[in-house]
Amino acid sequence: MASYRYHLGAYGRLALYVGAIKHEVAIKVIISLGVNATYIAQAVLMARAVSLVFSRSPLSTLIPYILGALGAVAVRGILSRRFEIYAKVMAAKVKTKIRFLVFDKILRLGPGYIHHQRSGRIQSMTLDGIESLEPFLVNYVPHIVSIAITGFAIGLYLFRLDWLTGLATIVAMLLCVGVPYLTVPLVSRSIVSYWRSYASLNAQYVDSIQGMNTLKAFNAGKKKGAELAADALDFYRNQIRNTTYSLIDSGLMMLLMGVASCITAALAAYRTDLGIITAGSVAVFLFLGIECARPMADLNAYWHNSFLGLSVAEGLFTIIDRELSITEKDKPDTLSLDRTLPEVALRSLSFAYRADARAALQGVSLDIGAGQTAAVVGPSGSGKSTLVNLLLRFYDPQEGEIRIGGTDIRDYGLDYLQSRIAVVFQETYLFSGTIGENIRMARPDSDDAAVIRAAQAANAHDFIMALPQGYQTPISERGATLSGGERQRLAIARAVLKDAPLLILDEATSSVDAKSEALIQQALERIMKDRTTIVIAHRLSTIKNADKICVLDEGRLVEEGTHEQLLARNGVYARLINTQRKTGE
Ligand code: ATP
Repeated sequence: MASYRYHLGAYGRLALYVGAIKHEVAIKVIISLGVNATYIAQAVLMARAVSLVFSRSPLSTLIPYILGALGAVAVRGILSRRFEIYAKVMAAKVKTKIRFLVFDKILRLGPGYIHHQRSGRIQSMTLDGIESLEPFLVNYVPHIVSIAITGFAIGLYLFRLDWLTGLATIVAMLLCVGVPYLTVPLVSRSIVSYWRSYASLNAQYVDSIQGMNTLKAFNAGKKKGAELAADALDFYRNQIRNTTYSLIDSGLMMLLMGVASCITAALAAYRTDLGIITAGSVAVFLFLGIECARPMADLNAYWHNSFLGLSVAEGLFTIIDRELSITEKDKPDTLSLDRTLPEVALRSLSFAYRADARAALQGVSLDIGAGQTAAVVGPSGSGKSTLVNLLLRFYDPQEGEIRIGGTDIRDYGLDYLQSRIAVVFQETYLFSGTIGENIRMARPDSDDAAVIRAAQAANAHDFIMALPQGYQTPISERGATLSGGERQRLAIARAVLKDAPLLILDEATSSVDAKSEALIQQALERIMKDRTTIVIAHRLSTIKNADKICVLDEGRLVEEGTHEQLLARNGVYARLINTQRKTGE
């Protein structure tokens, strides 16, 4: 029962989106009424023709009625075509609007949200899911309006011909509209689990394709294949169950329509026998009875097709309603970081990813002077990347604050803050497009010369020019055909082009060959000049020259100083250096 109420709520909310295209809906309703009018005209004209035949009128008197009915068919052909075209335009508009809304929300929710979701599920929701809203938004809503108007008009006409038969027709129509709603609890459960199984199957596929190398390398393809097969079987079962329920529902509807038309015909015949209505009126009841049933059958089909969208709407509204954990002030600062090189200060910073999880950072306080380079080191899991996540405001700390340029980062506009920080992430994500486009995304308005200068500064220009199409070379999926070192240099080129005063280098953990390492190091030294830089060092060979080295251990800042000072201290840093020396990194 709860889900029944919920779904009506979801439908109501979805209908609000139809409000955004109300003009289009109104036109569609008008066209639909036009189509219905041709059906009614055809039925009435044919009924008249039949009654003329019954009254043995000359054949020539039938001609205007038959020509009129043919005219109605022709007009309907034209209107139906317009109707279909219009429906597609409307569908495209409303789906684009919803996609934009959902994507915008996902962007605003940011990595803090995405990190905890399966990408396959989000993909099926935003692509197939929104697609499945079409029957409800574009067909069901306008259709129910046009049915209400047409049904009322036919009902009134039949009622005036004979109140009893007319009343029976109207009651039958109302039952046909109402019956599908009785099966909502049954069908809704089945369609929700159908959609879940589809989304899960999709997520498994995306996982398997993204992790193809690992699956092959660990010979785990068979196990994953078995999991996929199990998910596919589950999906198949859900599909069959869903179809069965739908068939029960439409069967019930067909039965109801059949019974209703029999009762109407019998009633009309009986009333003729009593001399209350003429034989001509019986023909009108028979023909119009069919016209009442046709839109009801359409409505039932639209309702069924809408149900998938309904279960998706549940997930979409969960995203749309999700509260933003990262918010902006009413009048955020969007200027201060333009003026000078910023200093960075962390004040008693504590953060845990979840309330029940161990704190990833605990009471960390740190000062990095303007233009200085600070390296953050520590064992794996000590909280280094978490610090980057907090600096970029992917998450906000539960306690303490981060000040950049003397201002709490929560006082800056989010876009502004992120535009003043250039990051070279551990893993370089390359988007589908050309190499040039991938560099330019750091500053979309930059010209070709600026892109080339950035690539040169990042020591990437030469390898790009050696590719067959240079900067126009298309990047394969996630840059799979480029080496790790080449991908890193593209990431550095992006950071150079962004030209932000604060630079974060989350060093790549994967090793690159010595030549590539030297090229990357040289490029990094170039870009670090005249910037405040934080280097998250997963390998220690690169940070000896940092102005300050900060050592994290289990989320706490345990040591701070220069390379020499920390070695002399013989603490965590010295141990890290010794371990890396032994393992040869
Ligand atoms: P590494 O050098 O191995 O990259 P790190 O020092 O960068 O490690 P973090 O990635 O900051 O370590 O992780 C700190 C802690 O937070 C770890 O216990 C980790 O499991 C946890 N953690 C990191 N990211 C998330 C996340 N998105 N959700 C929940 N916990 C996380």
